Amino acid sequence: MRAVRYILSAILVLVFGYIFIGEMVLPANTPMNGNICDELPSDKWFEVKEDGSRVPFIVPGKTDGDITLETTLPAPDEFNKDYSVLCFRGMDMEIYVDGELREKVETEDYALFGDQSAEGYVYASVYPEDAGKTLRVHYEYNAGMVYEVKIGTRLGILADLFESFGFEFFVGMAILIIGLICLIASVSYKIIHKKYLEMEHLSLGVILGACWVMSNSVFRQLYTSNMSVMSDIPFLMVMIMPLPFLVFVNSLQNNRYNRIIRVAGALEIINFIVCNALFVAGVVPLTGSFLPSALCAILSIIVMFITLIKDVKDHNIHTYKYVAAGFVFLAIAALIQIAAYQFAHNGVFSGLFMAFGLFAFMICAIIHTIKQLIGMRVEANEAMHVSKVKDDFLANMSHEIRTPLNGILGMDEMIIRETRESGTRKHALEIKSAGDTLLSIINDILDLSKIESGNFEIIPADYDLASVLNDVLNMTRPRAEKKGLAYYFSVDEEVPSALHGDEIRIRQIMLNIVNNAIKYTKKGHVDIQVTFRKKDTDMIDLIVSVSDTGIGIRPEDKDKIFKSFYRLDEKINRNIEGTGLGLHITKRLLAMMDGRITFNSVYERGSVFTLTVPQRIVKNEPIGDFSKAVSDYLNNMETDAVTLFAPEAKVLVVDDNDMNLDVMAEMLKDTKMKVVLSDSGPDCIEKASDTSYDVILLDQMMPEMTGEETLIEMNERGILHGTPVIALTADAIMGARESYLAKGFTDYVSKPVKYGELENVLKKYIPEEKQFTPDKEAGIPTALIWGYDSELLRQEKEKLQGVYNCRCVVGKKSMEKFLEKHTPDRIIQVM
Ligand code: ADP
Repeated sequence: MRAVRYILSAILVLVFGYIFIGEMVLPANTPMNGNICDELPSDKWFEVKEDGSRVPFIVPGKTDGDITLETTLPAPDEFNKDYSVLCFRGMDMEIYVDGELREKVETEDYALFGDQSAEGYVYASVYPEDAGKTLRVHYEYNAGMVYEVKIGTRLGILADLFESFGFEFFVGMAILIIGLICLIASVSYKIIHKKYLEMEHLSLGVILGACWVMSNSVFRQLYTSNMSVMSDIPFLMVMIMPLPFLVFVNSLQNNRYNRIIRVAGALEIINFIVCNALFVAGVVPLTGSFLPSALCAILSIIVMFITLIKDVKDHNIHTYKYVAAGFVFLAIAALIQIAAYQFAHNGVFSGLFMAFGLFAFMICAIIHTIKQLIGMRVEANEAMHVSKVKDDFLANMSHEIRTPLNGILGMDEMIIRETRESGTRKHALEIKSAGDTLLSIINDILDLSKIESGNFEIIPADYDLASVLNDVLNMTRPRAEKKGLAYYFSVDEEVPSALHGDEIRIRQIMLNIVNNAIKYTKKGHVDIQVTFRKKDTDMIDLIVSVSDTGIGIRPEDKDKIFKSFYRLDEKINRNIEGTGLGLHITKRLLAMMDGRITFNSVYERGSVFTLTVPQRIVKNEPIGDFSKAVSDYLNNMETDAVTLFAPEAKVLVVDDNDMNLDVMAEMLKDTKMKVVLSDSGPDCIEKASDTSYDVILLDQMMPEMTGEETLIEMNERGILHGTPVIALTADAIMGARESYLAKGFTDYVSKPVKYGELENVLKKYIPEEKQFTPDKEAGIPTALIWGYDSELLRQEKEKLQGVYNCRCVVGKKSMEKFLEKHTPDRIIQVM
């Protein structure tokens, strides 16, 4: 590749060397026949006065208005036989050769406003027989200048003009194109990345400058169809050109000099309005606006200069030093240009200075923008890094906080269950409530950080809608009832029962809204209605609307409630627990599922929040009478109490934290299960290979060997024989059931462990024949405990107290005798 680069360089040197030698060293040999351009002598002109008298006149020269000039065309011996045209610069004019009208130009009818015609080049034919004849030109509406008159061929005259003014034209064109490219680039960047690049206003300024150069060019005749309008453009450009530069500089300076820059901008705008009003009204032609416009522009330049100098003094310039340098070039160029226009008006005027100034400025500004873009990229990378660190920190923190919290809440649960003292119970309940709040805050912050870092995934799966609704009902109804609120929950019977979507998030969103309704309602009711709208054959919009008769939301607060950490009426609501994250998360989650949330609220009357989320239909079977299902369910429900008894079940609990182990043991005490505790992965493997358990509860995060590694090891050794392994996890965010199932766990229970949740999972996995639910109506069942060691019998009886009505007998014979007369519900042998 390197060799190719060298060869390419050599080829380029050869090719460009050849071009250079051809142009600069070899003699000129381009055929120039026909390229003739001469000037009529400047000192052989006479002004013809109205009375017919003739006064000598030097061309180019100044005039006050209409003027008639006369000269003699070259004599036959000087007259080139190829001469075909005379070329004049001016506005309306009449050209006579020997009294015969050769050309007449009248442009005043074309102007939209004002009566000023535009200067341009006018050609008149000339023939060899005209040699030595009189040429008379009558100039009308002259802007004050009579220019030299050329004689030659059309091509020759054009080539001559090109030599003098072609460079300016090309520079103007180049600036126009670069300006347009930069404008398109910065506007596209703004649309795509929602970020403003200062280059946008700069390129506008540069485009205006380029328009000024182009509309002023001697070649404008070649690319405009209306010279009058074209000749107005330079004056308009001078009026507005400083404005985008003011915006640009102001933005570069972070609005430090906002006030003075605004004053300059306001002056520009007033000048624009006044000059144009006078122009349109026909009072002052646009040429008359040049002076005030130029003064305003000079003022703006001075203002910008002052701010630059101030920034140099205050060491603020380094943020835009390239642009500042470019600006100095441009300002100098503009001042020279204005001077050139105003004072050096003795020939055709060129915008070359301005063109160069703009070019230099544009280059400097492009360098600035490239640096700005590189800076943004670096910032974005840093931000990404910071967000990753934040994410890791939050994930770790969540685990670190949840583990001790698990201990606190678990122990507290024990106190609540065991204490007979109302004072202690009250305090314990307060700990529970504060702990639950802390837990929900941690969950919210974690969710939010995941959403913001883009790591939050919506995991759609098939699910049973009734089960989600049931969960919502169970988790919210007791709170509403405790507050004395009427609680209504109605479900459209036709809603399809099985849907495809992210069940966990749907539940979370519904819980959020219903909990808010309960939280912010003191009296009255909370009404939850679940309906749907069919979108097409296999899609529905699931619609959940939650209305309450609570505190409501003021109209002026309506936009605020979805902001993160934003809580209304902080003072009034300070007793209501919350972080101001719930609705923000809800909205973000819904957006991720293509759903939306809307609400209506009357302050102090109540609110209605409506969630709409598209879900795919899995089974079109209607859900049916959900309320009946709910009431049946409620009748069977026993809250908080232990409803699982499984004295013969054996459970292994693995956790590296002793306190957590104690909590689990305490929690499971009332189930009468045999609970074996283990404090590490290797110990768990050892215990599981010695004995078979009905369920293993395995902590996910352990130092030596994680839960996952322990599970893999047990599977590899083949010691599980189908024993369900339930993950205990403090990582709520990862808590999606699917991800644990994918790792090989049978299910998961999130930490801090809530007894109800734990019991539900255990009920699912402990073999049914080992489970037993006491039937209150039928009375406490009876059990016969028999064995040979009376001490063991006594212990077992004590353990089963409350679950069974126990009778102990010693020896097999006594047992058989007993059975002759009684039929206990269960017979337990103690060895
Ligand atoms: P919080 O954790 O404070 O409840 P949310 O994001 O869930 O946070 O709600 C933001 C704010 O919106 C709340 O602080 C509350 O002022 C207002 N709000 C939410 N739901 C209701 C409602 N049902 N009735 C009245 N105000 C509500």
